Amino acid sequence: MEPNITRYKIHGGAVILQDEILPNGTVLVENGKIVDVAAGNIDFPGAIEIDAKGRYISPGFIDIHIHGGGGHDFMDGTVEAFLEIAKTHARHGTTAMLPTTLTSEKEDLILTLEAYQQAHQVNTEGASFIGMHLEGPYFALSQRGAQDPKYIRNPDPKEYQFILENYDCIKRWSAAPELPGAIEFGDYVSSKGVLVALAHTDAIYEEVEKAFAHGYRLATHFYSAMSGVTRKNAFRFAGAVEAGYLIDDMDVEIIADGVHLPSPLLKLIYKIKGTKKTALITDAMRAAGLTPGNSILGHKDKGLAVIVEDGVAKLPDRSAFAGSVATADRLVRTMLQMTDAPLLEIIQMISDVPARIMKIDAQKGSLTKGKDADILIFDQDINIQMTMVHGRIVYSL
Ligand SMILES: [Zn+2]
Repeated sequence: MEPNITRYKIHGGAVILQDEILPNGTVLVENGKIVDVAAGNIDFPGAIEIDAKGRYISPGFIDIHIHGGGGHDFMDGTVEAFLEIAKTHARHGTTAMLPTTLTSEKEDLILTLEAYQQAHQVNTEGASFIGMHLEGPYFALSQRGAQDPKYIRNPDPKEYQFILENYDCIKRWSAAPELPGAIEFGDYVSSKGVLVALAHTDAIYEEVEKAFAHGYRLATHFYSAMSGVTRKNAFRFAGAVEAGYLIDDMDVEIIADGVHLPSPLLKLIYKIKGTKKTALITDAMRAAGLTPGNSILGHKDKGLAVIVEDGVAKLPDRSAFAGSVATADRLVRTMLQMTDAPLLEIIQMISDVPARIMKIDAQKGSLTKGKDADILIFDQDINIQMTMVHGRIVYSL
């Protein structure tokens, strides 16, 4: 994407940096990059001035697990769906996202990957795309959640090698590490520089510990569709959740919409994993940004009917959640309301940390000289006033 050559001077706000908040600072932008950040008001001849009026000036939010929004799902497999989802979430503070697929037929997966490559070239009005995340199809049936059981299977080397060799846009792949062939899958996928994550899994602790050494470095929507403590013939076994806590270097991502995880669990994750190992994600489906009612999870014609109520998508029999309808601003608000984490740390969990997990922290994730100008202005209730992506204002209230 060609960056904007316009110069901007964003001033008069509390600038959220990696380790402190400058009460009154200025951020300078040129050619799509941050060229300076400083306390007070600094001169920048020829720049368009943006007065933050005492609000926060923040790094943009990075969502590494997202399926849709604004009435579209990436599995629709169209360029329009990609662009509209990027625009919808940019209005809520997301400046970069990792479009995520659902377990599906291979043909539909290929269609979505092709659409990504086209959409990536013409995406100038929304959050930028930082690669694709494949969620499935190598999952434990017993932990499928809302993933279609028809397509769930064990890792197939012919299939995953073909996909990775042909689509270098894939940057992350979620799978259940206890399946036959899942360790070889982890070795192969990580050898291609792609992040492997554990998801929809019934693994016990020992299986996760082994998988971690074979590339599984992130726990996908921690707690959701994931084993905890189980008993077999009176003996107790620790599960994937306990492994997520015990393995210090394991990153976790959490759907912090306030529905998937109640306040005590959000507090527990913050207390044990801490800011540096926890990323906030929306895992949003098509109904994010729309009013509650009936919707579809996945492909617009072949997907699963779901209901949106109580701020979340549910299966029609209300037995399980079927994705969230959260936007990134809501995640930050929820963490402020439901945990004791300070704003500075919450912002790290949705900027710096996901950037590091996806290895793009040299370009994104903080308001640092030389990084992409992905910048937000919001008030103390996290109402987004302006979203800048790569030096372009894509949303302004
Ligand atoms: Zn998901």
